Amino acid sequence: MIKVTYQDSFKSSYYELIADSRLQKFERIKFEAYYENHLESKLGYSLWDILCGDYEKLLEIKTKLGTKYRKDTHIKGLFNFDKTKNVKISKLQPKIATFMQEELEIDTCYYCNIEFINKFKSSNGEYKNGFTLDHFIDKGNYPYLALSLYNLIPSCYTCNSKLKHSSEINNLSPSSSRFNFDFKVKFKTFMKNENLQIDNENDFELILKESFSNEYQDYIKIFDLNGRYEYHKYKVIEMIRKRRKYPDSRIKELAKLTEKTEEEVKQDLFGEYIFEDDILHKRPFSKLIRDISKELDLS
Ligand SMILES: [Zn+2]
Repeated sequence: MIKVTYQDSFKSSYYELIADSRLQKFERIKFEAYYENHLESKLGYSLWDILCGDYEKLLEIKTKLGTKYRKDTHIKGLFNFDKTKNVKISKLQPKIATFMQEELEIDTCYYCNIEFINKFKSSNGEYKNGFTLDHFIDKGNYPYLALSLYNLIPSCYTCNSKLKHSSEINNLSPSSSRFNFDFKVKFKTFMKNENLQIDNENDFELILKESFSNEYQDYIKIFDLNGRYEYHKYKVIEMIRKRRKYPDSRIKELAKLTEKTEEEVKQDLFGEYIFEDDILHKRPFSKLIRDISKELDLS
């Protein structure tokens, strides 16, 4: 539900990480040299395109090459994310995870915005990460995309392992420039009660409603977002109760009293996410809070 963006400088460092990795055999030559000598003419794309091409480029490669390398041990052995058989290079998953943990700020799951997936310092002083890396395009069918940056979505265990499996969800990856979930799909309660006399979770519905199209219905269904957010309706109740205590007149008074703007007072009360779109990934439920704050006429 939250868009993933990778900066150019990050792409270059990621490319180096993989391209400079050394093979176990073949005099330990670098991945890049091996690829250029043995695979580039076969696949027809540069290693940069494969590793750091944007999501649209990956779709083009996927369409062109299809699933014909699904059982190709040569390609699987090189683009070796987490398998340990017949390898040309040891599995790269731990190296990639450590790199992302050090170089990227990863806070919440990009698929659901429910779980924190941050890194943390454990008691022995080592950093550990709380994320899994989902392959948006299935690495079993398309092994040549197993190490592609735009195919790796930092996500929680529930989304990655329990729900998504190898679904392709209409090719709507959060790393795609087409991905527009936040704009098109909003949390709605359809509250009709003007006085906000809503105290019970059964008094209202909470659903993700898509406008203008039906593109994201599979996404919502596969990650079971409506079902999973149902459990978190208490967040909405908390906001409604607070809004009852702080109607616009009270917010105006507080702004005067504290010499802040009304916007600042609202942020102090309801969280900074209600006016900021580009920090939604930072905290769980930030999209829910932002969307509901619109229904409560806060933003
Ligand atoms: Zn998730």
